[in-house]
Amino acid sequence: MSKFILPPKEGVPFVSVQAMAKMIHDYGVEQCIADLVDALEQDFLRWEQFEKSSRFASHSKDGVIELMPVSDGEMFACKYVNGHPINTKRDLQTVAAMGILSDVDTGYPILLTEMCILTALRTAATSAMLAKRCAPKGAKTLALIGNGAQSEFQALGMKAVVGISEVRLYDVDSTASQKTADNLADSGLNVVICRTVEDAVAGADIITTCTADKKNATILRDGNVKKGIFINAIGGDCPGKTELDGNILMRADRVIVEFEPQSRIEGEIQQLSPEFPVIEFHHILKGEVSARESDDDLVIFDGVGFASEDFTALVFLRDLIREQGEYEVLDMITQQADPKNLYSVVKDHSVTPTIAIA
Ligand code: NAD
Repeated sequence: MSKFILPPKEGVPFVSVQAMAKMIHDYGVEQCIADLVDALEQDFLRWEQFEKSSRFASHSKDGVIELMPVSDGEMFACKYVNGHPINTKRDLQTVAAMGILSDVDTGYPILLTEMCILTALRTAATSAMLAKRCAPKGAKTLALIGNGAQSEFQALGMKAVVGISEVRLYDVDSTASQKTADNLADSGLNVVICRTVEDAVAGADIITTCTADKKNATILRDGNVKKGIFINAIGGDCPGKTELDGNILMRADRVIVEFEPQSRIEGEIQQLSPEFPVIEFHHILKGEVSARESDDDLVIFDGVGFASEDFTALVFLRDLIREQGEYEVLDMITQQADPKNLYSVVKDHSVTPTIAIA
């Protein structure tokens, strides 16, 4: 399969929000998350092939702006993403993202895309991929704490991949829970809005924490958590931004991370000593370490989001737009006849559109 959708001289494919929304609506959110799980597993199985680094983060009073680069030697991906929990008070999203996939051989872009929707899909797929192995057998009930932008995707991923049938919602903002319940009304899930965290986690097999607050919050207290469950903690993804009482981590049988160097800085485990033992997920996927040994085990995924997950999602999108043709072509890279004569593009600007835009 060729790396390019278009020969580089024909311009750069660009996937807008509108194009992404149409493709995912037609594809089906659950099907898309399930297929992304398969793609993520293939890429986590070849973990060693990726050139990995912790993301670049520029912190400010109210948020963070991050760049997430990764390469498998053939393609390079980078996501620009922020995290500004205050944004929803300004009628803006907490997380706004866009991404690029490039050809390592030439350095030319393969595609540019929106990544708000794509991030929600890949995060739901990552959660589901972890839950598939770490949740107790026959898990049916998900407690979902934090009912913002990610929440419906999280619930639908757990339904499609793990077989969850009930979702118990809790958010400090009850209108957010109502929004999630309304959006999931036709999903086939039994959706229950809860007034407290205690009520939400009662009887849950899986607890997903997906809240946004720029502080060391305690969304789940030690006393809220019984043995035998799986905690999917994905909202704490920045220094000084955590969700779990450290005692829960201390008594867990397994704490699983994506890429340990990044999780030590950004994950729930930033609360603990640097020697606290964690397992990188690829070891579990390869069968080198078991996800759980007994029905009583408490297993935690300390998920912060790693660049290879975005790489997988971008390659998935490349293949999707090849099939569906839902993209525009951007005139992003100069294409003068003589590559050394860049000056000619400026000099002859009135006669030199570098590509014809559809
Ligand atoms: P959002 O702002 O849309 O939603 C967050 C929700 O959390 C809000 O409804 C808010 O009211 C609720 N909340 C805040 N404090 C709470 C508390 N103490 N108890 C209960 N609810 C509380 O944000 P989002 O896009 O849904 O993202 C949620 C979090 O997940 C963010 O922190 C984001 O950075 C993180 N995130 C992580 C990954 C990853 O890969 N790990 C990916 C995407 C987003």
